[in-house]
Amino acid sequence: MSLTTRLSVFFLAALAVVLAGFSTTLFLLARTYLHRQVDERLEFALETLSTAVETAPQGVEWEPDERRLSLGRDDGPEQVRWVVCDSHGHVVDRSRNSAGDDFLLECSWRMLSDPASFHEERSQGVPWRMSQRRVPEFIPSGERDLRPVVGSDDAERREQFYPALSLTAGMSLEPIRVTLRNLAVALSALSLALWLLAAFFGRWLCRRALAPVSEMAEAARAMGSVERDHRLPVAARGDELEDLGRAFNDLLNRLDESFERQRRFTGDASHQLRTPLTGMLGQIEVSLRRDRSPQEYRQTLELIHGQAGQLRAIVESLLFLARADAEARLPDLETIDLNAWLRGHVAHWAEHPRAHDLRKEIPSNEPIWVRVQTSLLGQLLDNLLDNACKYSEAGTPITVRLAIGADNATLVVEDAGRGIAPEDLPHVFEPFYRSPRDRQRGATGIGLGLAVARRIATALGGTLEVESRLGEQSQFKLELPAGVCADRR
Ligand code: ADP
Repeated sequence: MSLTTRLSVFFLAALAVVLAGFSTTLFLLARTYLHRQVDERLEFALETLSTAVETAPQGVEWEPDERRLSLGRDDGPEQVRWVVCDSHGHVVDRSRNSAGDDFLLECSWRMLSDPASFHEERSQGVPWRMSQRRVPEFIPSGERDLRPVVGSDDAERREQFYPALSLTAGMSLEPIRVTLRNLAVALSALSLALWLLAAFFGRWLCRRALAPVSEMAEAARAMGSVERDHRLPVAARGDELEDLGRAFNDLLNRLDESFERQRRFTGDASHQLRTPLTGMLGQIEVSLRRDRSPQEYRQTLELIHGQAGQLRAIVESLLFLARADAEARLPDLETIDLNAWLRGHVAHWAEHPRAHDLRKEIPSNEPIWVRVQTSLLGQLLDNLLDNACKYSEAGTPITVRLAIGADNATLVVEDAGRGIAPEDLPHVFEPFYRSPRDRQRGATGIGLGLAVARRIATALGGTLEVESRLGEQSQFKLELPAGVCADRR
């Protein structure tokens, strides 16, 4: 199911529930209100009829003329109808609009035996609301007689005194039923129209809003692995989809850069491997052209040995770089005192031609605990010292400085050599990068020393950074997380 359909279904279902709830509530409120209005009108009618009943010591008297009773003259279905009976059920008086209709009288009798103030009755399928009041309260005699008490003359009825009278008023609920039916039809039609409108525009809006997703998917499908410069189309809409498109394009840019780096790396690696191999093959071919003296064979083998050593160093560096990529941190680290280790390691450089230029700056004999692999840390420091010797003049100082911070140890290798040009600085840690000036000068090297050194620093959980001023000095700073002796494991 598409996202558009899922979103539309959810919102349309929610809208249907809201519309149904709203319409039902409105309908129920209207029904309650209209029924309450009927009850109020019946109450008012009974109140008006009560004012026409005179109470005297000999009984109660029905006096409609004195109160000018105008209730129940109109015939409309929404009009109140009423009847006044004595305790035997004889009709004393009735509204003009109920003349000839015995339904009201029968209801009046039924209500005499059932003292609830409001009743629902039915006449030919039409519901009626009835209400009754007795003046004074009395118990009905049980006899029923449709005849008036004394003749049908108004004057005669008026002069009568009765022990008690029952006043009954009723209203047809048909007008309310019609009104409520119309309201239900109007609410249903309105809700349906609103729902259909929302369905149409909602779907259109969803499609429009999600169109960039389809376009991006289409563009992504059309992208081949060869055309690496293709990117997703991103419309400047300032929404999440623009954000997604830009993020994805940034990812493609990064992948492209990484792909390019890998390609360069492979090219450089094969070139670097090819050079000593070609040299070795050349040496062998020249030696094989004719018979040579043991002395000459020995010389050739020594040359080949030197080139094979260089080849092995390159292959080992490449293997380390490839492995360090996969394993970000090394598993079997040991805790050592960096202070003591550094003194011991620098001592190995005593036989080096630049040994007299090497200086150690170690603040105290306090142990500095770090977790490392000593062979890798040794290789890192050797690479830095090797470069310092290579890129500075003999007689200039090379300083190895150790410092301890709050939670890290810093090892600095500084030389007062030719320095690194600002444009070379961002690249010196890239594999096979060599500054063009040093290439021209014919400095030996293949450009893997610093790349390997930084990978080692990362694998040990530290960082390796460089600061340099061209023609003045270079400073390589290694920072390693330091702990206390208790951390030793
Ligand atoms: P290389 O085998 O060329 O020395 P590295 O990876 O060790 O390879 O160094 C990369 C480049 O960084 C070098 O070619 C050189 O230009 C520059 N470089 C490294 N160390 C120093 C230094 N101490 N002083 C000046 N330049 C340096």
